[in-house]
Amino acid sequence: MGRSVEQYSTAGGSECKGKTRDEEPMRDNPLMVIYRRLYDRFGPQRWWPGQTPFEVIVGAILTQNTNWTNVEKAIGNLRDAGALSPRGLHALAFEELSELIRPAGYYNVKARRLASFLDWLFDSCGGNLDALADRNPSMLREQLLEIHGIGPETADSILLYAFGMPVFVVDAYTCRILGRHRLLEGPAEYETVREMMESLVPHDTALYNEFHALLVRLGKEYCRTRARCSGCPLEDLPHDVESMES
Ligand code: SF4
Repeated sequence: MGRSVEQYSTAGGSECKGKTRDEEPMRDNPLMVIYRRLYDRFGPQRWWPGQTPFEVIVGAILTQNTNWTNVEKAIGNLRDAGALSPRGLHALAFEELSELIRPAGYYNVKARRLASFLDWLFDSCGGNLDALADRNPSMLREQLLEIHGIGPETADSILLYAFGMPVFVVDAYTCRILGRHRLLEGPAEYETVREMMESLVPHDTALYNEFHALLVRLGKEYCRTRARCSGCPLEDLPHDVESMES
């Protein structure tokens, strides 16, 4: 069984014993040093997008290229229409579906993606999400990636947030923060970053959930396109923003 997120927030305290904050050993596990800094500053984010696994999946598909407020409006429309279930959504005509999700933007494109996911879900397991939860995460990931419009970030969001599988979700904030802290060599592929995260951060669903949420918070508040390093919880760790301010 994995440790709790709170335990990770203080894990490694003994290895830092006798050292000042400035001497904290990035070399031991730089990612867990970053995690602890963020958790200590921001606390638990309690980021559980969606009330049900199906809602999480719909949200993961709708959130591409828009903000969560717009996604919530679209999901609210689906809920009000009684369509926020695999069977309910699958029964909608394409035009009706795209109209209901209009607030999420690119609604025809996203309606097609939702329809593709639902076609696969019903072909694959009769629309029963519980049947997917027992599948091997790597196999399920491959299957999700074959569905029209589902890329690695969406697939991994579904695996982590809907099915509780320990898969690290990488996004633009992750790449920007790690790049500025010299943990990536140049522009990195999604898979390269994910594999690095999963090799250095203990496999734990709650930890991966929390870490991703903390990186998003850091990216929104400090590590923006134009970095605000002053006062940032990672300010005293080695970093280089000049080459990545674009
Ligand atoms: S704002 Fe500066 S110190 Fe903070 S994470 Fe970004 S590069 Fe690092």
